[in-house]
Amino acid sequence: MAHAGDRPDRQPSTGMRHPELLPLFATALAIEVAHLRWVLLTQWRCRRCHVRHLDCECKPAWMKMLL
Ligand SMILES: [Zn+2]
Repeated sequence: MAHAGDRPDRQPSTGMRHPELLPLFATALAIEVAHLRWVLLTQWRCRRCHVRHLDCECKPAWMKMLL
Protein backbone atom coordinates (compact mmCIF):
# COMPACT_ATOMS: atom_id res chain seq x y z
CA MET A 1 0.00 0.00 0.00
CA ALA A 2 1.60 3.27 -1.11
CA HIS A 3 0.75 6.42 0.77
CA ALA A 4 0.65 9.84 -0.83
CA GLY A 5 3.19 11.01 1.75
CA ASP A 6 5.69 8.44 0.54
CA ARG A 7 6.19 10.20 -2.76
CA PRO A 8 9.54 12.02 -2.98
CA ASP A 9 8.00 15.16 -4.51
CA ARG A 10 5.89 15.77 -1.41
CA GLN A 11 6.65 16.97 2.06
CA PRO A 12 6.74 14.12 4.58
CA SER A 13 3.35 13.62 6.13
CA THR A 14 3.02 14.42 9.80
CA GLY A 15 -0.59 13.47 10.31
CA MET A 16 -2.13 16.38 8.42
CA ARG A 17 -0.78 16.94 4.94
CA HIS A 18 -1.82 20.55 4.52
CA PRO A 19 -2.34 22.20 7.90
CA GLU A 20 -2.03 25.61 6.21
CA LEU A 21 -5.28 24.86 4.36
CA LEU A 22 -7.21 24.37 7.58
CA PRO A 23 -8.37 28.02 7.89
CA LEU A 24 -9.48 27.81 4.26
CA PHE A 25 -11.55 24.70 4.99
CA ALA A 26 -12.99 26.35 8.09
CA THR A 27 -13.96 29.40 6.02
CA ALA A 28 -15.48 27.23 3.30
CA LEU A 29 -17.40 25.27 5.92
CA ALA A 30 -18.67 28.47 7.53
CA ILE A 31 -19.83 29.77 4.14
CA GLU A 32 -21.53 26.45 3.40
CA VAL A 33 -23.30 26.46 6.77
CA ALA A 34 -24.43 30.06 6.20
CA HIS A 35 -25.67 29.09 2.73
CA LEU A 36 -27.61 26.08 4.03
CA ARG A 37 -29.05 28.24 6.78
CA TRP A 38 -30.17 30.79 4.21
CA VAL A 39 -31.74 28.07 2.01
CA LEU A 40 -33.49 26.62 5.06
CA LEU A 41 -34.85 30.05 5.99
CA THR A 42 -35.95 31.17 2.52
CA GLN A 43 -36.87 27.97 0.69
CA TRP A 44 -38.48 25.87 3.41
CA ARG A 45 -41.99 26.55 4.59
CA CYS A 46 -43.38 26.08 8.03
CA ARG A 47 -45.65 23.05 8.38
CA ARG A 48 -48.03 24.90 10.68
CA CYS A 49 -48.43 28.37 9.15
CA HIS A 50 -47.06 27.64 5.64
CA VAL A 51 -44.87 30.71 5.40
CA ARG A 52 -41.13 30.71 4.92
CA HIS A 53 -39.17 30.02 8.06
CA LEU A 54 -37.77 33.52 7.68
CA ASP A 55 -41.26 34.97 8.25
CA CYS A 56 -42.57 32.25 10.52
CA GLU A 57 -43.43 33.23 14.07
CA CYS A 58 -44.34 29.80 15.40
CA LYS A 59 -41.07 27.98 14.88
CA PRO A 60 -39.63 26.55 18.06
CA ALA A 61 -37.23 28.53 20.23
CA TRP A 62 -34.30 26.23 19.44
CA MET A 63 -34.75 26.97 15.75
CA LYS A 64 -34.78 30.71 16.38
CA MET A 65 -31.50 30.33 18.20
CA LEU A 66 -30.10 28.14 15.47
CA LEU A 67 -31.22 30.25 12.51
ZN1 LIG B 1 -44.82 28.76 11.42
